[in-house]
Formats: sequence, structure tokens, C-alpha cells
Amino acid sequence: MKKAVQFPLYLKILIGLVLGFVWGIVNKESGLNPEITTVYIKPVGTVFLEVLKYIALPLVLVSVTVGIANLEGLSKLSRLGGKTILLYLATTTIAIVIGILLVDIIQPGKAIGEDTRNQLLEIYKVEAQQQQLNLESYETMTFWDRFVDGFPNNIVSKMLYFVIFALVAGVVIVAFEDHKVQFIVDWLNKANDFILKLIDYIMYLAPFGVFALIASLVVETHSHDLIFALLQYSLTVFLGLLIMAFGVYPLFLKFYSDIPIKKFFEGIRPAQLLAFSSSSSSATLPVTMQQCERTLKLPEKVTSFVLPLGATINMDGTSLYQAVAAIFIAQVYGIDLSFIQQLGIVLTALVASVGSAGVPGAGMIMLGVVLQSESIPMEGIALIMAPDRILDMCRTVVNVTGDATVTAVIAKTEKT
Ligand code: ASP
Repeated sequence: MKKAVQFPLYLKILIGLVLGFVWGIVNKESGLNPEITTVYIKPVGTVFLEVLKYIALPLVLVSVTVGIANLEGLSKLSRLGGKTILLYLATTTIAIVIGILLVDIIQPGKAIGEDTRNQLLEIYKVEAQQQQLNLESYETMTFWDRFVDGFPNNIVSKMLYFVIFALVAGVVIVAFEDHKVQFIVDWLNKANDFILKLIDYIMYLAPFGVFALIASLVVETHSHDLIFALLQYSLTVFLGLLIMAFGVYPLFLKFYSDIPIKKFFEGIRPAQLLAFSSSSSSATLPVTMQQCERTLKLPEKVTSFVLPLGATINMDGTSLYQAVAAIFIAQVYGIDLSFIQQLGIVLTALVASVGSAGVPGAGMIMLGVVLQSESIPMEGIALIMAPDRILDMCRTVVNVTGDATVTAVIAKTEKT
């Protein structure tokens, strides 16, 4: 009997992505009713993402708790935590510096004439004001309001609480020291396996979900000639993201991990494709975890702690984009930023990217923090709105790849 050809997961997702793109164009250009896509096809993508987001929460809860309980000691936890946060801060700083260097050298803002600037400001005025309002409502919240309400008010942004709760639960289990609570750890281990199995089944939906996400994106995006005026800016961000993905991370992997670069990228590909299609590193987390554990064979005690933390605080692609966007807007307005001000951007982009939730568009809202700190006009957000959807997709891929790279590096240091 002939054996059915088994396509690898990433290929199935890629086929869904390409077909979604083709279908979107056909639907848009052939005069077919766009509702075929927006009403009947889009929900498949929305449901797929929602399911992934909801499964991410119990996954974080169980895997972080188990991961810490398995660490055998609080000193190991603080060592692992310290290393992880330091590495995350290091990769994010590198990303910001690359972004600043590129935008200073290429100077995309100088290519925008006054007419184009005014047109862009006019077209995206309302959206820019909305972003400003979002940021203002965020800023009027006290620390505790933010903690209780989350921002944006979305279940995935609550992930940080789940990480913290699981951290505490893990610490309590470790603090017991004797075997009285071993049954809890055993139970959680089983629950963890169960959730991973569930994700396997959810991933059968992935090619269809990705098809629907991309098709509806193409149908719903209004193309505008002015997007070409922003080509230099978009290419600057894109180039920076490429340098991170194919320059910086491979260097980290080569010198500080045990995983061959090719194997790493093959293993992480399904997560990258999903990150690209969903623009959400939090929704991609279950797949990132699964790929790191199963395909890259990274130890669970490392992945279960480092990856959920990364999906919440480590956003290299977002930070690079925020730095480029802020300086680009300053250039368009003819504002020369001093060296000290650019250093200020390094710091604020670091904070803003940590504060960005792993959901679509979060990076743009937090960009306001960077603009404000250097007194760059907030309405300038209108200037970068047109290509933001596609740049969000690309920066999310880098965010996810950065998390996996740091996990691979930490895994090696934990071996010794
Ligand atoms: N969409 C990004 C993520 O989920 C965040 C952002 O840059 O908007 O990682």
C-alpha cells in the first residue's frame, strides 16, 4: 500500500498563506462580492487565533509552574531569571541601535516632501488621533489600574499576570522542599502533555486559519499610492529586521548555542509563519513552545520559563521599528535629534517595547511613549500608518525568533 505523502507543518501553513494571498487578490480584482471573504472566510481565521490565544493561557500557567517546580531550588530560579532578563535586554538594545544607525544613514524622512507630508497627515488624521487617545487613556491609569485592567484590554495582554501567578505557584511548590506536593507536580506534568496534544489538533486548522487571515487582510486593505512615498521608511525597518533575523541571531546561535543555525531556522519556521500571519507573538506562543521543545529538543525546564516571559517582554522587532519610526517622523518634521536625544530613544524604545503586548498594533500605540519623551509631534504617527500592517507582520516574526534564540542560548548555559 502506498504511504500518503506527509507535508511538514510549515509547508502546509505556507501553502495556506500563498493561497490566501492569491484568493484575496482574485476576490478584490475580479469584482466578486468582498463579503465572501470578509463574512464567510474571515471567521475561520478569527476562531483559529482565538483558540490559540485561549490555549496559551493555561499553557503558560501549567508550563511555567512545572518549569519552576522542576528547577530544584530557588537559587536556580533567580540565576535563570537573571540570565534571561539580561539577554532579553541585550538583544533588544542591539535591535534599537541597529535601527538608529540605519535610519541615520538612510535618512528616509528627508525623502518626504511637504506635499506628501500634508497629504499623509490629512488622510490618517483620525487614526492618529485614535492612537493618541489610546495612549492618553493608558497614561492616565495608575500602575495598579494598568495591572488590574491590562492594556489593551485583551485576554492575551493578561498573560503577564499568568506568568506572575505561575511563578509564585512554582516558588511555593519548591518552598515545600519535601515530597508532599509531588503529586501536584505529577498532575501538572500530565496537564502539560494534555495541552500540548490539544495544540497538535488545533494545528490541523493552521493552514485554513492562515489562509483566512491573509485573504481577509488583502481584501480589507485599501491600497493607497502614498504607500510608495513611504517605501524608503518601510525598507529601512525591513532591512533592520533582516539584519536581526539573518545576522544577529545566527551569530548568537553560532557562538552561544548548541543548535546548528539551519536546524534552528527549520525548526522555528512554523512559528515564524504563524507570527507573520497573525501579527501576534502571544497567539503564536503555543507553537513556538512546541517547536522549541519537540523539534529543537530544547529542555522543557528552560522553554517553559524563557518563552512565556519573552512573549510578554521581549520585542526586538518592535523596539527596532519604534526607534526607526520615531527618528523618521522627526526627520520629516525637520527636527535634528542630538546624540543625547538618540540615547534617550534607546532607553524609551527599550521600555516601550517591554510594555507592548504581543498583539497586533501594540507597538504602534507604545510608539507614542518614545515620541513624547523626545518631544516629537504625536500627530506624526499619521505619517507611518499606511505600511504599518505589513511591518507589524514582519516585526512579529523577529519578536518570536528573538525569543527562541535566547531560549537556545540559555539552554546551553543551563547544561553546564
Ligand atoms: N504585533 C507585535 C507582536 O505581537 C507587537 C507590535 O509590534 O505591535 O509581537
